[in-house]
Amino acid sequence: MDFSWSEEQLALRKSAVEFAQRELSHDVAERDREESFSREDWRKCAEYGIQGLAVPRKYGGSELDLLTSFLVMEGLGYGCRDNGLTFALNAQFVSVVSTLISAGSDAHKQRYLPAICAGDLIGAYAMTEPLSGSDAFNLQTTFVRTETGFTLNGHKSLLTFGPVADFFLVFATEDPKLRHWGISVFVIDRDTPGLKPSPAISKMGLRTTPMSELHLSDCHVTHDALLGEIGSGAAIFNEGQDVERAAILASQIGAMEFQLEKTIEYAKSRHQSGQPIGKFQSVSNRIVDMKMRLDLARLVAYKAVWMIQQGQPATMEAAIANVRMAEGFVRSSMDAILVHGGRGYLTETEVERDLRDAVGGPVYGGTSDIQRNIIAHQLGL
Ligand SMILES: Cc1cc2nc3c(=O)[nH]c(=O)nc-3n(C[C@H](O)[C@H](O)[C@H](O)COP(=O)(O)OP(=O)(O)OC[C@H]3O[C@@H](n4cnc5c(N)ncnc54)[C@H](O)[C@@H]3O)c2cc1C
Repeated sequence: MDFSWSEEQLALRKSAVEFAQRELSHDVAERDREESFSREDWRKCAEYGIQGLAVPRKYGGSELDLLTSFLVMEGLGYGCRDNGLTFALNAQFVSVVSTLISAGSDAHKQRYLPAICAGDLIGAYAMTEPLSGSDAFNLQTTFVRTETGFTLNGHKSLLTFGPVADFFLVFATEDPKLRHWGISVFVIDRDTPGLKPSPAISKMGLRTTPMSELHLSDCHVTHDALLGEIGSGAAIFNEGQDVERAAILASQIGAMEFQLEKTIEYAKSRHQSGQPIGKFQSVSNRIVDMKMRLDLARLVAYKAVWMIQQGQPATMEAAIANVRMAEGFVRSSMDAILVHGGRGYLTETEVERDLRDAVGGPVYGGTSDIQRNIIAHQLGL
């Protein structure tokens, strides 16, 4: 493994940092309070090329390799104070776009990918249900075959972008008893009769990206809505999991770096008992822990993404990277608040928001418990 970046790669990261600082870090506290999503910022990101980073050129993207895309998303996370937006951009790629690339027909790709890259379409990934989360293949949303296509019925929950998405990748089963053998994936446009997203649900963090439930009630789709083969849904889901685990938190690495720098700055400038608080070992130790979490999370994430890019099995490495990035950001966000003292607790200083945004990390895309199960399984336990 060689993680010395080329000048071109570093220039891409630097440019992403500058773009995010210039264009994406406005009114974040206000939009966080109001739970408002900025479609304008989403479009700016598309114009800059974020949504198309790793999308093949023939479908409107830049076709960057995964590791370089990761580095750009890391830069975006460093420059952008809106963790909800950067989370959503990462999620759009690792769940929606990568599924379309791996399982979509050329017609699906032509229809959705250029419009996603242009910022005109947003997709939502509809897997989780009220009764199936970690046990994802226990889903109860069903489809039946009809002469002209399929009819779906069911209820999805916790969908990132549900309230604003233009289309949904919906996982459904022909028979819940078949477990993973029965699952298929359908791409369904928002205006399809019988498809009803709920209004936005309020949540703790990542509040600038909306979330909702989705109801499907005799929702009829034609044959061309099927992604891949009938019964291939579980395989499609599994195929994307290593990339999702390793890369969904890429921007958090940048956010952790920014958070560390700000915390060091504060520890040097805030004086108590006649000296900078950073001279108190309890304070400096917290900051040292933040630095170690950042460096270790970054290294294991690069390693996992590099292995995926080499075509090597990386299930364990991707799960390790996910846990390190997810839990590292939670703990470092708590440490940042403690170093800032009472000021860190105030919404207006924009220190506490990171903690609220970080807590989703050990939950979405498979909880940290599930990642540990995967690591244990890989160790033969
Ligand atoms: C911010 C955010 C965005 C999300 N976006 C999407 C999205 O776009 N699309 C989508 O489909 N879903 C989305 N989700 C849902 C997410 O994938 C699920 O919340 C997650 O998979 C956990 O499922 P659950 O919430 O049903 O929890 P449960 O599975 O009910 O788990 C509850 C607790 O039990 C533990 N647990 C469960 N099973 C095991 C086990 N086998 N071993 C050890 N511990 C276990 C869990 O770790 C957890 O602590 C999102 C969630 C969040 C927080």
